[in-house]
Amino acid sequence: MKKIDVKKRYDVAVIGGGLTGKLMISILIKSGIFEENKLCWINTDKKISEDKRVSFINYKNFFKLKNYCGISFLTNDYLKIHKIEIHNINEVKPISLEDKMGHGVIIRNDIFRNNLKISENNLKIYKSKVISTDHDEFQRYLVLENGIKINASLVLSADGNASPLRQLSNIKYINHDLDHTIISGYLNSNNFGVNTAKQIFLKDSFIGLLPFSKNLTNFVWSIDNKTLKGKVKFKYHDEIIERLNTFFSKDDITFKPPLSQSKKLQIYPINIKYVQYPFNKRLVLIGDSAHSIHPLAGQGFNLSMEDCFDVIDCIRNAKNIGKDFGDISILYEYTNKRKTRKDFITLITTILFYIFKKRNDYMNKFINISFKTIEKTSFKKLFKILARGY
Ligand SMILES: Cc1cc2nc3c(=O)[nH]c(=O)nc-3n(C[C@H](O)[C@H](O)[C@H](O)COP(=O)(O)OP(=O)(O)OC[C@H]3O[C@@H](n4cnc5c(N)ncnc54)[C@H](O)[C@@H]3O)c2cc1C
Repeated sequence: MKKIDVKKRYDVAVIGGGLTGKLMISILIKSGIFEENKLCWINTDKKISEDKRVSFINYKNFFKLKNYCGISFLTNDYLKIHKIEIHNINEVKPISLEDKMGHGVIIRNDIFRNNLKISENNLKIYKSKVISTDHDEFQRYLVLENGIKINASLVLSADGNASPLRQLSNIKYINHDLDHTIISGYLNSNNFGVNTAKQIFLKDSFIGLLPFSKNLTNFVWSIDNKTLKGKVKFKYHDEIIERLNTFFSKDDITFKPPLSQSKKLQIYPINIKYVQYPFNKRLVLIGDSAHSIHPLAGQGFNLSMEDCFDVIDCIRNAKNIGKDFGDISILYEYTNKRKTRKDFITLITTILFYIFKKRNDYMNKFINISFKTIEKTSFKKLFKILARGY
């Protein structure tokens, strides 16, 4: 077989065809900082996305996508969220966060991706995985599975939770298994408001409910592995419907199995990754490769979007003063910019996860009393701020 050994040189190479990788390359092109033929995208994913999960995008990021990045969506592509309710088992009252301007929007991941238009005329796209990497003072070298070699002044790697690039470039991180499984899917619903999102903390699991249309609700169910242990045929739809219908019986909200086209489930183990310094020479991690968190507050992709916005700002500032945008000082600057919010969101989602996972009956009573108190105080504002993205 003919051996391929081609060296291509770029200013920036983006790795990953997930939400973060596609957003990164598309706003990099739109920014006009580089000529398009100086950028490349390593994307092994299929052209048509089948990711039917939905994401909550906070108001601040949605505003930035539209007004700073020129990415707009049709109004029927998304639903505005005006109310977020946090429920707990045996509650007296949920915490209810209302925001007339909107906390943010709900959009399906494949619709989001398809709205990121990328002209493939000048952009070089490589459809092969990165299998090794090296660097010198000026370049990062990437070797692809098909034998092609690429050099770039800066590599932005959005290669996900398992991040081979993080491994290949010896970036240290903490991995923590939460011993929960995430199940994502849809349910037919009755009386579930189209502008309300709910997070419900049950005894053995937590359920995030996001409206998708008048009668279709998306769920993200985080379930303790103890509940699943030894059950060969766990009937996910029946089990979640039973839990939800019991919980909401007092509110007249009901759930039913979805029609067959919406029946598919996505099931993942959940582990968190904390990367204190998500960079190495001429390489920066963005998205889930730089921070993987529990989805209970719907903030994972929000953090990833902010990575993309901040990395662009750092590159632009460096270019404006004639500095090498791949220099280690710029990578430090970027990391410092991201640190507070990344640490805060990782900490708060992990603390919430463990408070609700470890609670006993006594603690649950205390939580419900706290819910009642929070509901009456201005402390509620803190949750609003978290949801909106400030
Ligand atoms: C059920 C669920 C619900 C969620 N809901 C929300 C929400 O409401 N709001 C929110 O903000 N976040 C949410 N999140 C989090 C969000 O989905 C993720 O943060 C986001 O999808 C991560 O995207 P990513 O592109 O960084 O990673 P990924 O989607 O994992 O993409 C990684 C990409 O890298 C590629 N890749 C891997 N290795 C290589 C290699 N060696 N060479 C080249 N390419 C490679 C892969 O093929 C893939 O394309 C949720 C997560 C889950 C699990």
